Amino acid sequence: MESTSIDDSALRVLRETFGYEAFRGRQREIIDAVSAGRSALALMPTGGGKSLCYQIPALLRAGVAVVVSPLIALMQDQVEALRHYGIRAACLHSGLPAEERRDVLAALDDGALDLLYAAPERLLGGGLLERLSPEQVALFAIDEAHCISQWGHDFRPEYLQLGRLAEGFPGVPLVALTATADARTRAEIQRRLLPADAETFIASFDRPNIRYRVRIKERPRAQILELIRDGHAGESGIVYCMSRRATEDVAAWLAERGINALPYHAGLSATLRAHNQDRFLREDGVVMVATIAFGMGIDKPDVRFVFHMDLPKSLEAYYQETGRAGRDGLPAEAVLLYGTRDVYRLRAMLEGSEANARHKQLERQRLDALLGFCEQTTCRRQALLGWFGEDHPGDCGNCDNCLEPPRTWDATEAAQKLLSAIYRTGQRFGANHVIEVLTGGSAARLRELGHDRLSVYGIGRDHPRLIWQSLTRQLLAQGLVQPDPEGHGGLRLTEACRAVLRGERRLVLRADTRPTTPDRSRGSSIRVAPAERGRWEALRHCRRSIAEAEGVPPYVVFHDATLLEMLRCMPASLEELGHVSGVGRHKLEKYGEAFLEALAAAE
Ligand code: ADP
Ligand code: ZN
Repeated sequence: MESTSIDDSALRVLRETFGYEAFRGRQREIIDAVSAGRSALALMPTGGGKSLCYQIPALLRAGVAVVVSPLIALMQDQVEALRHYGIRAACLHSGLPAEERRDVLAALDDGALDLLYAAPERLLGGGLLERLSPEQVALFAIDEAHCISQWGHDFRPEYLQLGRLAEGFPGVPLVALTATADARTRAEIQRRLLPADAETFIASFDRPNIRYRVRIKERPRAQILELIRDGHAGESGIVYCMSRRATEDVAAWLAERGINALPYHAGLSATLRAHNQDRFLREDGVVMVATIAFGMGIDKPDVRFVFHMDLPKSLEAYYQETGRAGRDGLPAEAVLLYGTRDVYRLRAMLEGSEANARHKQLERQRLDALLGFCEQTTCRRQALLGWFGEDHPGDCGNCDNCLEPPRTWDATEAAQKLLSAIYRTGQRFGANHVIEVLTGGSAARLRELGHDRLSVYGIGRDHPRLIWQSLTRQLLAQGLVQPDPEGHGGLRLTEACRAVLRGERRLVLRADTRPTTPDRSRGSSIRVAPAERGRWEALRHCRRSIAEAEGVPPYVVFHDATLLEMLRCMPASLEELGHVSGVGRHKLEKYGEAFLEALAAAE
């Protein structure tokens, strides 16, 4: 894909320093623009490879590249990773001891840094900017640039001040990077941060290595346990729960069953949070059971799965959260559990909200999109990307609906029965009661209420309860029924259901069946052939020892993708090892022998 231009210093740095063979997506164009001194806005999905877009120009241009990043943990990780490539990088943030800060500033003055990471308040308020002249600066990179948007949920007031950079440092290229791509945020970044002539590069937001699946929620914990055991044993992953309590309960429950699970939420002490996060980053195979407080700025490349025990807030949130899986490009999986109670809760919250009509309308659209995604019977990826305004040609072949096309049925008549039963019982009762009436239940309460004498009593005996539950959920999801506004758990008809009752609209719905045969879409993890297991473990062991000795997460030494390629190529010399993707010059010198020995010694 890359052009072999006259001066291919960018490609040389990619190969020699980072050990990668080719550029991905629009990396090349962005690197060329910034290296030539032009400013740019780069929109790429998580895992798309944003970092190289400023790291390579930083090495190609004279002076230091100043990288603004909102999270200290993220900065430290990046600096650590860069040093392992033999690159001169440092960071400045409030947590740094005075002595180290002095050393960093001295290195800066000496021109001994290629990249300097700084928190925005350090750069602007800490006198750092005044210390730098335009000649000294190779470029400015603003990571997580969407933090400048007041409308987004990651707004950082300090980011607003960064607008001064473009004026104060004319001629120094500025590159803003983000994975949040909606048009309003994009326009805001452009207007507040970048010079008028900055180019915009938008990469595809598809994450082809992530397999999307949605499962009906039945016994959530057991389902999560089964998902982990069946295809993800020993792998790192995240389980998102809605409540803080649930994260602790589920983590403990999984731990009792032998899963290396830890909880994480904003209510835990800072020490415990840091400790759990650290274990997640440094140990192999930790499962983090967390609220959405966890994840922003977690740069771990080998998260193999993201499971949602509860519905996310929106499709945007879902995409961001699932995007944390599989940054290394290897197969990863996102599974969402979804049940009637979730639908009911979200619909009830919306109806009960005090927001004004316009806002409510927007919220309703969001919720409709989310529920539509859960219920749909066609390619999930196409739907997700479509929501973000991107066309995906044809079926993806890597989502549950593509792999196991769901059965559908004409539910019009059944829906009419259910709607009638809701109506006849006075639109006051919840799904359980209505289903009891439909299926001709014998509960005393039915008789007390006289519901056993209604015309709808027992007219639904032809379907099992499971079908009626699934139908209720789908009618709620489609907005054909809604929770009563008082929130007592009752169901009401909506205007939209009239067409169904009159037979003017046919309903073709998903047939929820419990999988009886093992479903083909399950699992998706890295597959190592049994014959190669020994060598694979030897490579991982070698990596772990080095990582422990150096006090860094294993992926800083080498990514899984690199180890897998070693397994495939079986290099017998340093020269051969140097051709493996992810093995740059520096790491080859430092670790080459150790990995060759590990391979040779293993069976
Ligand atoms: P982002 O910041 O966009 O989420 P990163 O910059 O962290 O993504 O890159 C994601 C992963 O992809 C990293 O592990 C990185 O080393 C790897 N990567 C980036 N560019 C390439 C490339 N051209 N070839 C191979 N791997 C790459
Ligand atoms: Zn698909």
